[in-house]
Amino acid sequence: MNPFTGRLTFLGTGTGVPSKDRASPACLLELPAARLLIDLGPGSLRQLARVSLAVTDIDGLLLTHLHPDHSADLAPLLFAGKYPPSMASGKILHLAAGEGFRVFYEKLKDLYGSWIEWPPGRLQLHLRPQDRLFEQEFLSLHLASRPVAHTKVSLGFRLTLPSGKTLVFSGDTDYCTSLVELADRADWFVCECSFPEGRKMEGHLTPSGAGRIAREAGVGTLILTHFYPECAGQDLLGPCSREFDGPLVLAEDLMTILL
Ligand SMILES: [Zn+2]
Ligand SMILES: [Zn+2]
Repeated sequence: MNPFTGRLTFLGTGTGVPSKDRASPACLLELPAARLLIDLGPGSLRQLARVSLAVTDIDGLLLTHLHPDHSADLAPLLFAGKYPPSMASGKILHLAAGEGFRVFYEKLKDLYGSWIEWPPGRLQLHLRPQDRLFEQEFLSLHLASRPVAHTKVSLGFRLTLPSGKTLVFSGDTDYCTSLVELADRADWFVCECSFPEGRKMEGHLTPSGAGRIAREAGVGTLILTHFYPECAGQDLLGPCSREFDGPLVLAEDLMTILL
């Protein structure tokens, strides 16, 4: 049997619109040396519990941006971490986000005070420039980020795994060359696909837009996620595959991909 090199689980493939079929955005990346979450929408901690993991099992958290559908479970995560058995674990959480996160975090602390504040050193912030490519070692990964076309503080992430394989997360975005460059020849490209063809909204993608980025970047496998309810019952594969002829996956909640 091959040694375990990594596993990606989609905890939530929806948006901020409550849905019985899709939880809000969050992905769980499990590697031999660390477990990471990418985004943390409302209900993500419950989704994490559904795969039998607790807050103390997580080593790293990456936030693409601060819209509530991607960040709302941060305060509950910090609060759950204050639960005495969790605190007693001594776990350190590494959090990577754009520099704008600092103000967001200070305001959360103003609001919740000691309910969410962890002892010094237990929450380590790795804040990243929001206007350019930035690369840094993060846990057992090489982590690159670039601004993407959504909000002023939105980042796409490129993770180079210890195996050498690469995994890119678009976060929420519109078409932009910055994302094409970030996703360059990535093995897996997890890309938002908010709306079906013909119903595009500014700051988001439709299947053909996601496919265009995947084609221009020359990625291996394209995985679409972040589906608004308007996507239900629509043909997403057709318009996307006319742009990108490689392997294409529509993510579902709790779907797992071996990396
Ligand atoms: Zn979103
Ligand atoms: Zn957003």
